[in-house]
Amino acid sequence: MTKNEISGEFDLIHTYFAPLSKLEGGAFELTDDAAVLKIDPARELVVTTDTIVAGVHFLEETSPDAIAAKLLRISLSDLAAMGATPHAYTLSLALTDAVTEEWLQGFSDALARDQDEYGITLVGGDTVFSPGPLTLTLTAMGTVPAGKALRRNGAKVGDDIYVTGTIGDGALGLLVAQSEITELLKVDADYLADRYEYPQPRGELGERLIDIVHAAADISDGLVADLAHICQQSKVSAVIQSTLIPLSDAATSVLDLDSSYLQQILSGGDDYELIFTASQAVADELKKLSPKTGIQVTRIGVITAGTDEAVQIEDGNGDAITLQQKGYRHF
Ligand code: ADP
Ligand code: MG
Repeated sequence: MTKNEISGEFDLIHTYFAPLSKLEGGAFELTDDAAVLKIDPARELVVTTDTIVAGVHFLEETSPDAIAAKLLRISLSDLAAMGATPHAYTLSLALTDAVTEEWLQGFSDALARDQDEYGITLVGGDTVFSPGPLTLTLTAMGTVPAGKALRRNGAKVGDDIYVTGTIGDGALGLLVAQSEITELLKVDADYLADRYEYPQPRGELGERLIDIVHAAADISDGLVADLAHICQQSKVSAVIQSTLIPLSDAATSVLDLDSSYLQQILSGGDDYELIFTASQAVADELKKLSPKTGIQVTRIGVITAGTDEAVQIEDGNGDAITLQQKGYRHF
């Protein structure tokens, strides 16, 4: 679809995006220059932006449904990591000739579904046409009780380190989607590919971590890299046990094929799980959150006093595991 083939930016917005804004009166059905949002004075606004580019952050053949889901959910994962409750988002689209009305319908339908699921509303954006690649930017806003946002800089020596869900599925799912892992059962391959395409932001849990944990982040760059971010900001080090890292059945099947995939599990990105540290005194309180939210929480290690702000990984024999690459490099 070229710029001239659609009836103008206004119609595109009116048809596909204005319906997504109807729960927020301050979005004026996307007819004004900007949205005006009411914020509870006892709370603070948490803001995060992500851009995804075709061929870089998603495969060219990805469905509009999966692109929409990933775009929104990676920002929801950032809000979850801050302990924020989702509120509103804006959407900036650099559309290309490859985008059809059918694509826009699939994209906006997926956003509508995820808005319902996660409790967030579109309030504005921008639409331009570009020679490519397809580039999408989403800015998500959430709120936290004032002063209570979860930060990366609060980890304390002796804290336990926890993760949600299972680790490595996203990175392995990408290898499956790229046909680099081919010997899996279909059920395992489909599971991993789905985990790569449809991240599951852990906001239900993130909000409940306020006043319980010392530090939190979401795992987007890789388990070890994101734990290292917490260590750097908190000026501590960490030791994790590879045998404690929670794995899906599908990831276990991959390791059975070739144990060297442990490298991808530790350092690959795209998990969108939470990692957080908390005093041993709250271990029981944290355990109660799993049944409440349906989200698995697993202790994988401990924060130490080391001054190198580094993450050490031990195998079942207590020997150090060395990583070939620490995490996803953006540049
Ligand atoms: P301006 O020229 O003032 O930037 P636009 O014509 O770009 O305004 O946008 C008109 C309205 O439509 C604004 O409220 C804007 O937030 C909204 N809008 C434009 N593109 C999108 C989009 N992709 N998603 C959501 N809202 C959009
Ligand atoms: Mg504009």
